[in-house]
Amino acid sequence: MNKKCCELLKQVIKNECKDISLDNISYNEDEFYYEFKSDKQISENDFARLEKEIKQLDRNIYVKLLRISGVYFAGNANNEMITRIVGKAFSSQEELDKYNKFLEAAKERDHRKIGQDLDLFCFSDYVGAGLPLYTPRGTIVKDELQKEIERVCKKYGFQKVSCPSLADISLFETSGHAGKFNDELFRVESPKGHKFVLKPVQCPHHTQIFASKLRSYKDLPIRYMESDKQYRAELQGAVGNSLSRVYAITVEDGHSFCTRNQVKQEVINMCNLIKDFYSRMGLWKDHWVSLSVRDYDHPEKYIGSKEDWDICEQMLEEVSEELGLNAKRCEKEAALYGPKLDFMFKDALGRDIQIPTVQLDFAMPKRFGLFYIDENGEKQTPVMVHRAVLGSYERFLVLLLEQFKGVLPIWLSPVQVNIIPVNIKYHDEYCKKIKQLLEDEDIRVEYDNSKDKINKKIRQSNVMKNPLTLILGDNERDNNLISYRLYGNDDTKTMPIEKFLEYIKNEIKKR
Ligand SMILES: [Zn+2]
Repeated sequence: MNKKCCELLKQVIKNECKDISLDNISYNEDEFYYEFKSDKQISENDFARLEKEIKQLDRNIYVKLLRISGVYFAGNANNEMITRIVGKAFSSQEELDKYNKFLEAAKERDHRKIGQDLDLFCFSDYVGAGLPLYTPRGTIVKDELQKEIERVCKKYGFQKVSCPSLADISLFETSGHAGKFNDELFRVESPKGHKFVLKPVQCPHHTQIFASKLRSYKDLPIRYMESDKQYRAELQGAVGNSLSRVYAITVEDGHSFCTRNQVKQEVINMCNLIKDFYSRMGLWKDHWVSLSVRDYDHPEKYIGSKEDWDICEQMLEEVSEELGLNAKRCEKEAALYGPKLDFMFKDALGRDIQIPTVQLDFAMPKRFGLFYIDENGEKQTPVMVHRAVLGSYERFLVLLLEQFKGVLPIWLSPVQVNIIPVNIKYHDEYCKKIKQLLEDEDIRVEYDNSKDKINKKIRQSNVMKNPLTLILGDNERDNNLISYRLYGNDDTKTMPIEKFLEYIKNEIKKR
C-alpha cells in the first residue's frame, strides 16, 4: 500500500509543481516518502488539500501527510537540497481518525510547544537554527538537572573535569573521529593562523587528563565526568526549532579507565547507575535496550582488532543476561571504537529516543598510548568505558517534557512557589514578607503583584505549571498562616508559616 501511496503523492505533487527536475520515491513498513526538486513552495498548510486530491485519485486510500523537510538528494551531502514529504497510510477511515486523535494529543505534549508555553528555551534567526537559547527559566531546569546527575554519579565514583571546546585536529585524528566523522566536524580558523576543531565528543580530551600523570593499577578505575557543549555539523535540512537535533549539544558524558579484570563489573555499575538515575526521575518504564554491535560486512568502519571486538560484544551479552536487560541485538549500530548498550525511550509520538548508553572501548586507549603500571611493575593498556547517563540535555528535555507534559517535579521547577495576594491593597506587605522568608531558604519564588484579578492569576499560575500557588489574604496575614494549592488540585490547605517551610523543604528534597 505504501508503494501505491508514493505514486499517488507523486502524481498530485506533479500536478501542482510543473517544474520538477529531480525526484525519488521510497517507503518502509511505517511511512512513505516523496522527494522532489521544484521552485514552487509547498508547506504543511497544503497538506489537507493534497490529502483530498490523493483521495480523489483512489477512494480506498486513507493517507495522512506528516511532515515536510529539506534533504540532500539520495542522502548525499554533496548533492543538492530537495524537498521531502513524509506520509502514512491507513487501511480504513476509522484507523485514520484514531491516528489523528493521537496526533492531536501528541501536539499538546510536544516539547516545542511546552518549551514556548513555559518559557524554557527559544531560537533566533540571528543565532541560527539548531542553536537553542535557554532562557533564565530553562537554565534553572538545566542547572538543576546537572546538579542532580552529578550528585548521583559522584556516588558511583565519578569526578568532575572541565575541558575546552576547541582542540587541535591531531587529537581527533588520533582518536579516529576525524576519519570517521570528517563531514560532521566544525573547523575553526583565525586570521592569525589558528586551526582548531570544535569538540564533537569529549572522550579524547578525557584521555589526556588520564595521560597527564603516571597511573598505578591501584588507582583504577579512574572515572571522569563532564557536562559541556559538543558540536556536530548535522545536515542543514535536519535541524530546526526543536531540541531533537541541534548543532550545539550539551552532553553529560563520562569515561572510566579500568583494567581488563575490572571492565565487566564497571559496565554493570554503569547500567545500575542508569537505572538508579532514571528511576529517581520517574522515567524507568517503557524502555528497551539495544545491544548495538558492528556491521560484520564492513569491519573497516571501526577501529580496534577483531579479537577485542569479539570479547567486548560477548561481555555485553553477558551483562545483559545477568542484569535481565533483555537487550535486542542490533547490527551496524556500534560506536566507532566498540559495541554498546543503548537504552531507548519514547517521545510523545511514540518514536524511539536513545539517551543513556554504555560503550566498551579497547581501541582508543591504545591509539593514545595510555598506560598504567600493574602489580609486576609492567606497563598495561587500560580499557575505557564510555557512558552517558543523562546524555544530551536537549534530548533528555524532549523526553522529560513530553513524558511529564511539562509538569516538572518541585525540585526541578523553574518557579517552585507562586504567591498571589487576595487583595494587593491589603496583603502586599504580607506577601512580600513571605517571599523574603522563602528566598532566604533558597526556594525559587515569584510574587504576582500585577493588576490582574485573583482568578486570572490563579489560572495563569496553573498555565505555568507552578507546583505550589500561595493565596494570601486577611486570615493568613492576621494569624501568620499560609494557604496553598498544589498544581492540578483546587483544594486549598492552610498551615502555620513554620510548618509550611518544613513541608516545602521536605518536598524539594524528594527525588
Ligand atoms: Zn566517550
